[in-house]
Amino acid sequence: AQEALLQSQKMEAVGQLVAGLSHDFNNVLGAVVGAFELIQRRADAPDKVQHFAEAGLQAAQRGSNLTAQLLAFSRSQHIQLQPMLVGTVITALADLLRRTLGPMIALELHLDPSPVPVMADPTQVEMMALNLAINARDAMPDGGRLTISTAVRPISGAPEIADGDYVEIAFADTGTGMDEVTLRRAMEPFFTTKPVGKGTGLGLAQIYGSVRQVGGAVRIESGVAQGTTVRVLLPCTDRPPVAIEQSEPEISGDSG
Ligand code: ADP
Repeated sequence: AQEALLQSQKMEAVGQLVAGLSHDFNNVLGAVVGAFELIQRRADAPDKVQHFAEAGLQAAQRGSNLTAQLLAFSRSQHIQLQPMLVGTVITALADLLRRTLGPMIALELHLDPSPVPVMADPTQVEMMALNLAINARDAMPDGGRLTISTAVRPISGAPEIADGDYVEIAFADTGTGMDEVTLRRAMEPFFTTKPVGKGTGLGLAQIYGSVRQVGGAVRIESGVAQGTTVRVLLPCTDRPPVAIEQSEPEISGDSG
């Protein structure tokens, strides 16, 4: 759970990093374009051309450093699949989720009493739960309820996933819900309706990416003033689950 908190802080940092990098990259491109324009205009003056070419070269070099940073980040995002029980992770995370939701929002867990293991990355599942809880909290400024439930669902003929058994984790909130445009675009990277500095628009995109990577699916049901339910389907496995350590999160200075 502690790791999930760190991961979610990392994601927040990553969001800021990406936003910052995009901005820097745009500046760099501006400098390169500017240098070429000046070279074109002063083609008659070799010393000027030399000077502008130098500036352009330096800007292009900065751009190349920036993309190297982005590449390093994307390589750090690899996942480790193992047979695991979703309910165990959610139970271990419940304290942290309650603190995240605050005193005005109730957390209800309806976990499958005879759970089936899935192939997934426990850290990714923790991050997902934390991110979805943060979204639920943001959608319930006046309080409400978040219900997390798990159940086995046999799926057949679904367009995006293979036939078979899946564990469905449903995150249902009683919040503001989404209008049609938001619902359609919610999983797009960088799509956010939150103020600058609060939302990165990467939460659902990241969840979608990691769930698709393990052969699962994400479905969202939402309507204005009708709350939101995010359903995550993870493929079941016959392999016995690997035990997950149930350490208590150590969070200091939290009054909630
Ligand atoms: P962020 O939370 O940084 O905005 P997300 O990708 O997690 O990024 O969410 C994208 C958008 O989807 C949010 O800005 C919000 O408009 C909408 N959204 C996500 N979860 C919920 C929810 N539980 N209730 C209402 N709207 C939501």
